[in-house]
Amino acid sequence: MNAIQEILTVCNRIRYDRDLDSVFDHLEGEVAELMSEIDKAFYGDEPGEDGILGEAVDVALCALDAAIIANPGITEAQINEVVSRKLAKWERIYGGK
Ligand SMILES: [Mg+2]
Repeated sequence: MNAIQEILTVCNRIRYDRDLDSVFDHLEGEVAELMSEIDKAFYGDEPGEDGILGEAVDVALCALDAAIIANPGITEAQINEVVSRKLAKWERIYGGK
């Protein structure tokens, strides 16, 4: 199972009355945690338990959870199409091969 398949499966399986408002609050917290880890790295401080990688994944999971809640029934292929389109845009903006 690839990452997008796993995220879609878990987000659709878990139930705890999540909605866009509650996911927004969670995302805010995770973004703050990621910013703190980036700040620690910038100033040479010891990273937290999850470090930049773990907090970046938390942010990505929360953001995709919001997208899945906002788009009921969205498929892996639809998410992959958006990922490809956005990555192509990043490459155009930032330069690629
Ligand atoms: Mg976190």
